[in-house]
Amino acid sequence: MHSITRDDIDVLVKLQGVETEANRIKVALNEVPKKLDVLDTKLREFEQLVEDQEAIVTEQKINYRENESDVQMHLDMISKSQEKLVAVKTNKEYQAILKEIGEFKNKNSQIEDEMLASLDRTDADEKLLSDRKTEYSQLKDEIESEKDLVIKESEAEEKKLSLFETDWNKISEQIAPELLEIYKKVQKQTKGITITAVKNAVCQACYMNIPPQMYNELHRCDELNFCPHCYRIIYYNGAGG
Ligand SMILES: [Zn+2]
Repeated sequence: MHSITRDDIDVLVKLQGVETEANRIKVALNEVPKKLDVLDTKLREFEQLVEDQEAIVTEQKINYRENESDVQMHLDMISKSQEKLVAVKTNKEYQAILKEIGEFKNKNSQIEDEMLASLDRTDADEKLLSDRKTEYSQLKDEIESEKDLVIKESEAEEKKLSLFETDWNKISEQIAPELLEIYKKVQKQTKGITITAVKNAVCQACYMNIPPQMYNELHRCDELNFCPHCYRIIYYNGAGG
């Protein structure tokens, strides 16, 4: 059995406190690259959306120009046919050329209808593209400031973490070497939580019940006790009962 005082427990709890905080910071820092990646991906996905919309508008414009040149080509053919009309000798030839001209005119009227309809569509798609571009630039600003915040926060956390060793050493100087050795040994076995409160006879690390005899001893706070289930150092927490 190792004799202790309430002060010993308080210092061990303080030591545990800086360790818990350092662990929390390490976990948070590990998440930083993932957080930044999620933000980058979000922006890239939106960028792709803008590019897709841009491609739609470009394709529609190409189609429109192709239609325009088809119409022009048909008009050229119509005027060539009309020139031929002057020179025809027979009625049959005359009718054939008229038919040809009629076909080109029909084709053009179909194409022109299509072009007219596509203008409305292109207007709507261009409007959507312009909205997307505006949204993209807003999102980009938002994401950049979010990333700045994540980086600034992580720098502050890293600074805190860099003080951990100094804090730990300062606190551990107040602990008797023999007790500190026990603490370190338990720490090696239990990882994370070395000392934990017992509330209402329940260990707050493993949530198992502490036997009544031991729980009574804990109230005295005069010797070191270990949870019989998780082997951590335990102490009576007055506030919790
Ligand atoms: Zn336990």
